Amino acid sequence: MFEKILIANRGEIALRILRAAKELGIATVAVHSTADSEAMHVKLADESVCIGPPPARESYLNIPALLAACEITGADAVHPGYGFLSENAKFAEILVDHNIAFIGPSPEHIRIMGDKIEAKRTARALGIPCVPGSEGGVTDDDEAMRIAEDIGFPVLVKAAAGGGGRGMKVARAAIELPEALAVARAEAKAAFGDDAVYLEKYLDKPRHIEIQILGDGHGNAVHVGERDCSLQRRHQKVLEETPSPALNQDERNRIGEICAEAMRKLKYSGAGTIEFLYENGEFFFIEMNTRIQVEHPITEMISGLDLLVEQIKIASGAPLSFAQADLELRGHAIECRINAENPVTFRPSPGKILYYHPPGGVGVRVDAAVYQGYTIPPYYDSLVGKLIVQGRTRIEALMRLRRALDEFIVDGVDTTLPLFRALVRNADIQDGAYDIHWLENFLAKGGMDGLES
Ligand code: ADP
Repeated sequence: MFEKILIANRGEIALRILRAAKELGIATVAVHSTADSEAMHVKLADESVCIGPPPARESYLNIPALLAACEITGADAVHPGYGFLSENAKFAEILVDHNIAFIGPSPEHIRIMGDKIEAKRTARALGIPCVPGSEGGVTDDDEAMRIAEDIGFPVLVKAAAGGGGRGMKVARAAIELPEALAVARAEAKAAFGDDAVYLEKYLDKPRHIEIQILGDGHGNAVHVGERDCSLQRRHQKVLEETPSPALNQDERNRIGEICAEAMRKLKYSGAGTIEFLYENGEFFFIEMNTRIQVEHPITEMISGLDLLVEQIKIASGAPLSFAQADLELRGHAIECRINAENPVTFRPSPGKILYYHPPGGVGVRVDAAVYQGYTIPPYYDSLVGKLIVQGRTRIEALMRLRRALDEFIVDGVDTTLPLFRALVRNADIQDGAYDIHWLENFLAKGGMDGLES
């Protein structure tokens, strides 16, 4: 097992990694930018190293500074969290070259899944159902038109290097395709330095359902159920729940087993998430994330696993200590991503937290890295914490969420807590009747009007 883990991240996930390491008896090193010297993960780690100025490019993405921090502290492993360098194959490779373990999959698997065209090709070869679309990238507009007519409009033009919903454009009819191609290519070039795009059938009212998997690199792999992340704003997940209100047990077992079997064949090592769109009883692969995800706690709540502990054990070379049949998923869990943003305009609201009172009680978990008197810096994403609840049934979880949200107090900055208070009281949400467009429609129809506080 490792002796010292360097946490190459910040915020709530840095704290989450630290907690797992401590419970395994492993020493921790926090790294931070000059803007984060007062951060919780820095205060709680055994050691800390300042790695640069506030811009992420010069600190949390600064590979030489991170290597130096490993060297100075003698860390023998690095956990990248999510975002930043978590899906950077080069970083994983450099660490391995320096005899430092990367807590994540092999650079090869990161690379394959990081290129969406390559990922889709691999998924198809592994027997995972995919959205109908182009076989690979499309460079020629005439060829794109032929493929689009073949799969049928509407189609979606997507960037091979895509992420965060950028470089995606819908063409509802043939006349819109040339412009969609041009805009998607330009956006992809600007955002990722790569203008390769591909085509997919545009699904009208799908749900976003993803499968959590764990593989040990020795050919053992399991799935840990699904998460329904259909409530999104601008392709960013807002609230997640498990199990999905849309799936029955047969569908769940079937897609879960397809994913686990694919990971066995791939000899995948680590935690990963296989993302699907789900419509009319069918699953369509969209991408795989080769890292821990923001919404992992809901899976932990219903499985009893600590996914971070599993990641660390797997990276140290240990085989999975359980088989699929040993996993039992119980009850229902829901997560709200609480951002320091205005709940109506979604404008970021950095600043000092004057008063902080998180909820507690049975079945309530708060993964946050803020405290009273802490100042949220303006340089990073606006996630301040996650409220996760668990109940024996979906109704129990919803009622628990409602009372936990009502207990939660964050003063001094705006947060999206009022949005969740409105959602948990909404009839569609209570019925589980929502797709990936539901939240945008709710907001456009003025669902939050007059509910700022
Ligand atoms: P990114 O990596 O940029 O987040 P994804 O491929 O994961 O891109 O897609 C992000 C979101 O875009 C999905 O959750 C879904 O809301 C929407 N989306 C992606 N592909 C399709 C499609 N073929 N049809 C309809 N919506 C899609």
